[in-house]
Amino acid sequence: MSVRSLCVFCGSSFGHDEKWAAAARRLGAGLAKAGITLIYGGSRSGLMGAVAEGTLDAGGRVEGVIPKFFLPNEDPFAEVSELTVVDDMHTRKKLMFDKADAFCVLPGGLGTLDETFEILTWKQISLHDKPVIMLNMDSYWTPFLDLVDKIVAHGFARPTVTGFYEVIDSVDDVLTRLNSLKEPQHSDFSRL
Ligand code: AMP
Repeated sequence: MSVRSLCVFCGSSFGHDEKWAAAARRLGAGLAKAGITLIYGGSRSGLMGAVAEGTLDAGGRVEGVIPKFFLPNEDPFAEVSELTVVDDMHTRKKLMFDKADAFCVLPGGLGTLDETFEILTWKQISLHDKPVIMLNMDSYWTPFLDLVDKIVAHGFARPTVTGFYEVIDSVDDVLTRLNSLKEPQHSDFSRL
């Protein structure tokens, strides 16, 4: 397979620093330029809206997936290329997974962590082998990476789990990596 779509997990808030939204917009615009479809949670809120706006403003394709009970809380982004309204969170996660060739994790909160851990635990039980990139801009995810290292050090996960994600410090380097991933990859997702 080759990476033609990227699922971005990120905050439904903006955080306290404008640099996060700027980075999200830049990543979104870079996806459009690379011809990579953005898959995301369908909301206009926070960094989620920023990344989608970046892709749309640059003429790219955005596919959002949002649970119907979230519609009142997470303002859906009506301008996206395709918005799928699903029944529940699990359906949303599975559909985002199915649509995406790879994942990138931007700064976010508990929902972002939930999505990230789920995709990594699916990798741990060999349900997929899709690339996962942690955008560790300004060391945002270093405590997460340290936690996984600690889990491994205490014998609660195999050392191989730290190979389930790539850690990249800048949006530009993420885009460079995605462009290299556009070449065919070899994976078997048949068990999911
Ligand atoms: P957050 O990082 O908390 O701002 O949430 C980012 C996205 O994760 C939002 O679209 C949430 O709907 C989504 N999300 C996924 N799973 C969960 C969960 N179990 N609890 C809360 N939000 C979640």
